[in-house]
Amino acid sequence: MKTVLLALCCLLAAPALFAQQAVDEQYTKQIRQFTTGPQFSTELVDHLPASATVPSPLQHHGYIAGAEGRLTYAEDVYRYMRAVEAASPRVKVLSFGKSEEGREMIAVVVSDEATIASLDRYREITRKLADPRGIGEEEARRLIAEGKPIYYATGAMHSPETGSPEMLMELVYRLAVEETPFIRGIRENVITLITPVLEVDGRNRQVDLWRYRQANPTLPTPPLVYWGHYVAHDNNRDNIGLTLNLSKNVMKAYFDFHPQVVHDLHESVPFLYVSTGTGPYNPALDPLMIDEWHRMAYNEVNELSRRGLPGIWTHGFYDGWAPNYMFWIGMGHNSIGRFYETFGNRWPTTENRVVRSASERTWYRSNPALPTVRWSLRNNVNFQQSGLLLALADMGKNRQRFLENFWTLGKRSIAKSTQEGPAAYVFSADQKRPGNLRELLGVLRSHGVEVHTLNGALTIEPSWPPPKKDEKPSKTTFPAGSFVVRLDQPYSRLADALLDVQYVRSDEKVYDDTGWTLAYLKNVESSRIVNPDILKAAMRPWSAPASVAPPKNESDIEYLRQRFADPGAKLPRIALLHSWARTQDEGWYRLAFENLGAKYDYISTQDVSAMANLREKYDVIIFPPVGGQVDIVNGLPPGPPLPWKTTSLTPNLGGIDETDDMRPGLGLAGVQSLTRFVENGGLLITVRDTAAWAVQYGLARWVRTVEPVKLKSPGTIIRAKVIDRKSPIAAGYDETLPVFFGGSPIFKVGVREETPAETRPSGRGGKNDPDVPQGRPFVLTPERAKPAPGEEGFQMPEDAPYHYEAYMPRPEDRPRVIVSFAEKADDLWMSGMLDGGEEIANKPAVILSPRGRGNVMLFAINPMWRMNTQGMYALVMNAVLNWDKLR
Ligand SMILES: [Zn+2]
Repeated sequence: MKTVLLALCCLLAAPALFAQQAVDEQYTKQIRQFTTGPQFSTELVDHLPASATVPSPLQHHGYIAGAEGRLTYAEDVYRYMRAVEAASPRVKVLSFGKSEEGREMIAVVVSDEATIASLDRYREITRKLADPRGIGEEEARRLIAEGKPIYYATGAMHSPETGSPEMLMELVYRLAVEETPFIRGIRENVITLITPVLEVDGRNRQVDLWRYRQANPTLPTPPLVYWGHYVAHDNNRDNIGLTLNLSKNVMKAYFDFHPQVVHDLHESVPFLYVSTGTGPYNPALDPLMIDEWHRMAYNEVNELSRRGLPGIWTHGFYDGWAPNYMFWIGMGHNSIGRFYETFGNRWPTTENRVVRSASERTWYRSNPALPTVRWSLRNNVNFQQSGLLLALADMGKNRQRFLENFWTLGKRSIAKSTQEGPAAYVFSADQKRPGNLRELLGVLRSHGVEVHTLNGALTIEPSWPPPKKDEKPSKTTFPAGSFVVRLDQPYSRLADALLDVQYVRSDEKVYDDTGWTLAYLKNVESSRIVNPDILKAAMRPWSAPASVAPPKNESDIEYLRQRFADPGAKLPRIALLHSWARTQDEGWYRLAFENLGAKYDYISTQDVSAMANLREKYDVIIFPPVGGQVDIVNGLPPGPPLPWKTTSLTPNLGGIDETDDMRPGLGLAGVQSLTRFVENGGLLITVRDTAAWAVQYGLARWVRTVEPVKLKSPGTIIRAKVIDRKSPIAAGYDETLPVFFGGSPIFKVGVREETPAETRPSGRGGKNDPDVPQGRPFVLTPERAKPAPGEEGFQMPEDAPYHYEAYMPRPEDRPRVIVSFAEKADDLWMSGMLDGGEEIANKPAVILSPRGRGNVMLFAINPMWRMNTQGMYALVMNAVLNWDKLR
């Protein structure tokens, strides 16, 4: 009798351990309703536990996560998270910054109540483990035993990928409420950190568009042209520059928590791709980290496939090369960075989808997606949430492993300086462009990389560029005050990834830019030092001084800032021109102009076509790249209007710019208006595809585009040389400079089409033998040195009289090459992938094409790219500031 009573007593004291937790029937019913088949769910997410105290998404919003027809605004996601926080001691919501348009960004922390109560202690543990220099082995072991790993999941980076904020609300509820051993294993061993919406401005615009679509079911929905305030998809390419607020805010959240995993949730390929990548992997990363990507990926692939879910795979999507993705906030700091791609419908509707390539079986996808499927937002939520729960459970089971790996990766990063090297990068205090150097060092510091300055002069051999064969490395003396990035620091691998030179084989398939060497992009001198003696030199931590002496160099960005800030300066009236079809690349130009303090009007191609006299209002119009496929003149195809403006239905559209109809393009009236602007003395700056457009529509004459045949230059740093040393555009530049080239366009300047010199008719003999027509005496074609006027390939000499051929332009109208790519193909490559370089050797990179009293400027390179190319900014800004002195 006594024992029975005791047992009863125990049962009453700990009911949750034994009793089956009640299920939220209503919620669970709707999960089943919106899931299109049992094979698209798991036992982890096919139900929701009931809670007497914590509100479910259904109770709070009136709909479940992944419900048909429902998308949630960022603020409403936050209201829900805060309602859960108010009801549960297991949840804490932190605000950690604002978007460009003032919308809040949050992080939600979920763990058991004891962990939440001692959150500061757990954050202290991961902070200490992040820097193994501050703790001994014994203390580290103690901290690893005591600590809890932190898993940081982030959603809605890309605004048309709509499922993750919905899923993350349900996940927070489930983690806080559910009492299964599986969830308790996560809650008690892991601190889950969640940012439900990264791109808050874009999320709200996307939800606006869904409201528009519902209200106008028979009309086409305007395309989401602005995601964030500045850029669209490229918000996930900002992790080198850290210029967007979302990147800065996530970086801050990272340093507040030092999580061991950063996991970004994306939606594209079916049904769940877990990141590892095809390679090439970034060579600066520790193999220990790369192996961990694979271990984690295969755990989820295996566990989900075991549960019968179709289309779970890894490897064959994305590479692992460029450090510009947001999850590099983890990888650059010894945390695992990873992502999912789940299958998204964009709109919260259930659709019959056809899956093509991802439904094919291949070695990395033995369980491919189904070729046709009926797919819902809830399916997407099920896949995302099940995968993430398995990843969290793995961390819970391997709690110490994650902390130990984190600490070990930090230790090995510190050992890098003397083990695999290099020991340091040094930037001489004696630089031509101190403002650019300051910018570079500032970027490193915002990533948490330590920078030192030399107390005295130091003489040591730089090993980069490498000495030529049989050449003894010469020593260089760096003056006192030179900057040293030591690689015996925890974030040495990130510093190395950003500062070293990249080599990519031309047979690799790379997903994004291939070269980004920061010293090149900022046009500053740097030395890669292998000799570890550098670490013994006397130096002290550098902190950026509030002000610096004004630089004298016109190609220095600090000089440009001062020019634009000078109240006495006569500045041109500037307009930045955008199309309504795509705004991403021009967003980087807005950022660059604002960063330099250059004021501008923001106008669209539609405005231009409506303005008869642009010259009355503007001196300079800059037309940044619009994205290759955009039809600048025609705009979008004819059809019902696509309004982009603030209305009560779409409160988050508009603001940046507005239109009643996004469809019309520049039109021929706009082409004429811009031509008149130039002829009346204005400067029109065009870049990449807009430069090709200026050639096509005849604004820039005697310039042609050449189709690349073999060229492979996917985001490569190329050596260029200044041709016109007298032009104010080149002021401050050396004879050669690094430029960023995206692989197109290729320009040629001249009157006529040129045929390549090496071609000969098919005939007898070899490639270099003369062709011999039959039945007549043979006459050898004379070797021709330079083509004569009127001959193919003739380039106009500066002093040629304009009247000697009818079609010859007057000297003052002739296009002038200001900067060209290096003359010899072998000299072109600086960093990244380059193959078929002979097609761009000696071709123009920057052209000034006079017309009437003004000028059209054409950039084959992209001088303002992702806020990383400060070394090239002056090519644009020197032209802007000297717009009336370019002839
Ligand atoms: Zn995405």
